[in-house]
Formats: sequence, structure tokens, C-alpha cells
Amino acid sequence: MGIRGIPLACGRGFYKSSSQDLQCSRCPTHSFSDKEGSSRCECEDGYYRAPSDPPYVACTRPPSAPQNLIFNINQTTVSLEWSPPADNGGRNDVTYRILCKRCSWEQGECVPCGSNIGYMPQQTGLEDNYVTVMDLLAHANYTFEVEAVNGVSDLSRSQRLFAAVSITTGQAAPSQVSGVMKERVLQRSVELSWQEPEHPNGVITEYEIKYYEKDQRERTYSTVKTKSTSASINNLKPGTVYVFQIRAFTAAGYGNYSPRLDVATLEEATGKMFEATAVSSEQNPVIIIAVVAVAGTIILVFMVFGFIIGRRHCGYSKADQEGDEELYFHFKFPGTKTYIDPETYEDPNRAVHQFAKELDASCIKIERVIGAGEFGEVCSGRLKLPGKRDVAVAIKTLKVGYTEKQRRDFLCEASIMGQFDHPNVVHLEGVVTRGKPVMIVIEFMENGSLDAFLRKHDGQFTVIQLVGMLRGIAAGMRYLADMGYVHRDLAARNILVNSNLVCKVSDFGLSRVIEDDPEAVYTTTGGKIPVRWTAPEAIQYRKFTSASDVWSYGIVMWEVMSYGERPYWDMSNQDVIKAIEEGYRLPAPMDCPAGLHQLMLDCWQKERSERPKFEQIVGILDKMIRNPSSLKTPLGTCSRPISPLLDQNTPDFTTFCSVGEWLQAIKMERYKDNFTAAGYNSLESVARMTIEDVMSLGITLVGHQKKIMSSIQTMRAQMLHLHGTGIQV
Ligand code: ADP
Ligand code: MG
Repeated sequence: MGIRGIPLACGRGFYKSSSQDLQCSRCPTHSFSDKEGSSRCECEDGYYRAPSDPPYVACTRPPSAPQNLIFNINQTTVSLEWSPPADNGGRNDVTYRILCKRCSWEQGECVPCGSNIGYMPQQTGLEDNYVTVMDLLAHANYTFEVEAVNGVSDLSRSQRLFAAVSITTGQAAPSQVSGVMKERVLQRSVELSWQEPEHPNGVITEYEIKYYEKDQRERTYSTVKTKSTSASINNLKPGTVYVFQIRAFTAAGYGNYSPRLDVATLEEATGKMFEATAVSSEQNPVIIIAVVAVAGTIILVFMVFGFIIGRRHCGYSKADQEGDEELYFHFKFPGTKTYIDPETYEDPNRAVHQFAKELDASCIKIERVIGAGEFGEVCSGRLKLPGKRDVAVAIKTLKVGYTEKQRRDFLCEASIMGQFDHPNVVHLEGVVTRGKPVMIVIEFMENGSLDAFLRKHDGQFTVIQLVGMLRGIAAGMRYLADMGYVHRDLAARNILVNSNLVCKVSDFGLSRVIEDDPEAVYTTTGGKIPVRWTAPEAIQYRKFTSASDVWSYGIVMWEVMSYGERPYWDMSNQDVIKAIEEGYRLPAPMDCPAGLHQLMLDCWQKERSERPKFEQIVGILDKMIRNPSSLKTPLGTCSRPISPLLDQNTPDFTTFCSVGEWLQAIKMERYKDNFTAAGYNSLESVARMTIEDVMSLGITLVGHQKKIMSSIQTMRAQMLHLHGTGIQV
């Protein structure tokens, strides 16, 4: 206050907002007045005053970025959660807003997401620190920026501060089919066409047309499957109103049905006379109609489908077709996923990203080399995804200097593995295709491959434990077979074991070179056949089916029960093929319960339709596990053939009485004198021979030495079974 009460102008650093104010006030925090007589203070650089802020409050600034942003993806919905910013800018009106960008795969270019996306509770003005973003595209890359804002954020010209996360959405069912039109209506048939769903979210493998008589109110309905966007539904009743609904199917499952469309077939009287006769010949034989009683008589479904299931192994069948309309039927329950061959994709990169998540190389820590794969080293390491706990992983790498084809074949395994989700099938975490090296990241299986694991722990497990492993493998195979996937290379070396002894099916490459034996002359396109594991029809005419996988499964059973013994020992591939053709089969491994060996023999039925299905195998093994006494049944002590393999044709084959007889049976009688001269006069003494003993007999042909030794090994194993003799192996 100046002299005589006349107010003085305020000094620097002070202000007086109105002349009525008696006193000057000090400039609030982060503001200043650099001339005298100021009516307000200016904000410091980087600080602002919101329009509603009175002059006496401090100048403030935008908040810092939110912290600890984490996300969770569920198909095409992403939830985000974060902690408040470290600095709220000096204000308590902080809210959050979300910026969504969709990014392309290759160049990393991003565009705003647009308005088709839903935010819960909202996109801007969020008071809580979480949001759910819905209706994203499937298999798409998105970046979300979460920005904390306050009353002065929009005044600020400095760079926005935000927390960001880049994600890839999962798979989702296709969106609804729309635009269903009736193209032609007759007395007994209706032709419909429709549009592909707006968001296919994958490759549409078929459409399902569901229809029922309107009067029946959906109590029973029929379905027709087709690959195209039109179909003719035949076999209808004249003069009847039908309701039609259509939905699309992809690897992710079925989408929603289109809205109901009522169509009335023409009355009998109004139709042309000849139509009634034309109908029966016009009836499309490829339309298989599923009559489903919605009231719950599932049994009926089985009755209708029973004959189909009985004849087919894969869940998918392409029926004969006329014209360009492809009609399919599908006898699994809706929602069952079907395997898609990545080779059907023109662009293999798209296939990989359809089924596998692209990982950021910075999330992967490689620790050490654990194995050698066909395409490069296999390493162990850790994967730490943002917002997730780190997990142990196996990392398959593609060696440097690869060709484009090698890259494609390498990533093909990921495209296949990424389609599976089962506790007994190895789980894919994702791929790195943009960085180098190219990597496939898989769940870590602590005990490595099953064959090596069993050899290392020879004789250390109970029969129940071994059967438990076999049950797991069978369950994994049942899942793969249900998806229509044929493995072709099922073998103990391609099963991985984790720390809990859980076995998982792995190795899904399409072109493999497994059998380095130069005698493996039977080749499929791009790979040799693992003869010892392969069913005869697959070797002979490449008939690979789930039934040939069952044959291989029988060999895996034998490998497991013999703790990793090589099937058919050191017989040559040619001899194996010949022996199998002649009806010989592997004998029961040591200590193998008879029931398990019988199951193996069933898997090795020559007639593939007579082999059990994986479903049945799982059931049989489950029964054994529930009733362990069934596993104690010793092998019959009846006469068993002492020959390299069990002769399936002549099960009554009597045991040999002499070394001569035995040699005759294996067509090696020319060496009878060699045995006699060395003092091997009894089969007992022969059974104790080692390979050195055999070599010392003066048999010069290595092939013959091997053949004799292999037979001796079998004889020894069988003698152990039959008499429990204490022969040291
Ligand atoms: P490829 O089929 O390319 O030749 P594999 O998948 O057979 O390669 O892997 C080679 C070896 O690496 C396997 O035998 C196994 O020992 C090890 N391995 C592979 N995947 C895993 C995994 N997920 N966990 C642990 N070890 C693994
Ligand atoms: Mg392998």
C-alpha cells in the first residue's frame, strides 16, 4: 500500500488481477511477471494455465506418460491396463485417452484404426486406468498409445508423452454372412447366393447352410456344406415354407448365422408336370443332409453319420461333384477346428502370420544350444513378453545363408504347429521372421526327445508310467487326426518330454530328410520315408492317412516299451519291408504286458481299416491305467517262434530244437559248420553270443553277420520272456 492509501503498481514477481484488490499477490508457482504493474503472471515455458484456471493457481503442465502398461489379448479383443503417470503435471484432473493404429506386416507403416472399433468404457476421458478394445481385425498388428491428459494437455505444443504397446490379435471366427438371396425357387429345390462375410478373419473353407421347415420351428434341421457363395438345396417338399440361415467356417471355427430367410417352395399344382420326375435325377448326390434333432437326441446324429464315420479317417471329405459347385460335408460337431495346409497359401508369409504370432527379437534371450535341427541349431532360452512373466522356451533357428525355399520350409512347421492347441501337442509361442536369425519359438520341453530320454533311463519306469506316456501321445494324435492332420513321421524321436513326463507330439515339417539310409529309395515329393515307422500302403503307394499314423503309433509303443530300442534292430530297410510284407511283426519287448503287445499288433494290421482309431487307443490305454492288474498278465509261456520277427501268418510255428534248424529258418544254414566247429551246439549257447563271437566264426559277409546277430538278439529277448533265464544281455 502506498502513501495515502493510493495503491502502488505491483512489483516484479507480483500481480494484482483487479484494481479493487488491495494487495499484490506473489506470482503462483511456475509463473512470473517481469514488468511492474502486472495484472496477471505469465506461465513459465512448458507450463500452462487452463482457460478455467483462476490467476492465483499455479501454472501446470501435461502429465508424464502412464506407467507399467500391460495388455491381454483374447482373439480380437485387447484389454489394456496401466499405472498413473509419475508426474500428474501439478493437476488433479488427469484422465486417459487411447490412440489405436493398425500396422502392416512388412514395412511397419501404421494407419489410424478408424471408427469400427469399440472401447469399453470409452476411448477418451477415461478416469480409471484400464480399457477394453473390441472388434479388432483378426491376425492384425496394432499399436496402442495410452496418453495421460489433463486440463492443459491440449495447450501444450511439446511432444505427447505416452506409453505404447504393439500387439497382434489372435484368430477369430468369420463375421456374419449377409446378403442372402434366393436365385431360383422350384417345387423341390431352392437356389441361394450370398456374400462373403465382411471380415473373413482367415480363409473360408466352407459355408454351412442350415434349413428347416418353418412349421417345425427348428426342432429338426438339415445342413448342406459348400465352398462357393451359392448353393442349390434339393430334396425339399413342394408348397412348404423353409427357413434358411448361412454361416462361414474358417480355421477359427464358425461365424454367426445370417438372419433367417423364409422361402416357400412352389406348390405341386403350379409346377410343371415333368419336374416331379426330373427331381430324382437332378438330386445332387453330393449333398449329404444332416438331420439333427435339436430336442437332444444326439444318438440320431450318430445313426445318420455312423456309416460315414465308419468309412473315413479324416474329418473332411470332398464328395464327387458336378459342375463347378463344390459341396462338402462335415460330420464333426460345429466348432471343431480343421487343419489348413499352409502350402495352400500363395504367400507363405501370410500363412505364417495367419497362424503364428510375430515376436519381437528383443523379447527373446538365447541361452545355450541344446540340439541340431534340420535347418539349424536348436537353443534354449527365455521369452519375456511385455506384461507377461518370462517363460522357458526352445528356439529353433534358421542357419545363415538359407535359400528362400529353406526359409519357407522352415517356417512351414510354425504355420502348422500354430494351428494346434492341445496339451499333448507341442505349443508354438511365435516366430521371428523380420529379424535375423529367423526363429521359431516353442514351449521348452526339459527332457528333450523321447527316444534319447528312454535310452538314458533304461528300465527305470513302471509299466504304468510308460503307459501314461503312450496315452498322452495317443491323445495328441487323436486331436491331430480329428483336425484332419496326418503326421507322416510319428516316431519316438519326434515326441518331446517335459519335466512332468508329459509327452507331446512335435515335428511338423512338410519336407523332411529323416532316413539317411541310401537304401530308402521310396520317396515322396521332397522327402524320404522313415521305413521302419511307416505303414506298408504309405511306403508302397504313398497312402498316408490317420490309419498309417496309427501304424507308426504302434512302432512308437514298441520303442517306448523297449526303452528306445531301434525297431527291427539292425535289419536293413529292404529286409524290413520284405518281412512286413510276408506277415512278420515285431515281438513283444522285454517285460511288455501281453495286452500292450496285442494293441501294437492291432496297429500293424495290414488292412488299414482294421487298425484301431486313436480314439479307441486312448480308451484302451485309459482302461489299462484304471485297472493296472491288467498290465500284470505275463506273456503266455506257450511256444513262441524264435525268428527275428513274429510270424503273423503261422502263429503255431514251433520252437527250434537245434542250431541247424534255426540257421535254416533264417536262411543261413551254409554256416552250420562254422557254428559247430566253434563249439556252439545248443541254442542256449548261441543266445549268449556277442557280435565279436559271430565275427570270429569266419563269416566274412557283413550283411550275414548282421542278420545272424539280429536274430540272436531276438532269440535272447524271447528266451528271457519264456524262461526268465539269467542270460546277460
Ligand atoms: P528338426 O525337425 O528341424 O530337425 P527337431 O524339432 O527335431 O528339429 O529338434 C532337434 C532337437 O532339438 C530335438 O531332437 C530335441 O532334442 C531338441 N528340441 C527341439 N524342440 C525342443 C523343445 N521344444 N524343447 C526341448 N528340446 C527341443
Ligand atoms: Mg526332427
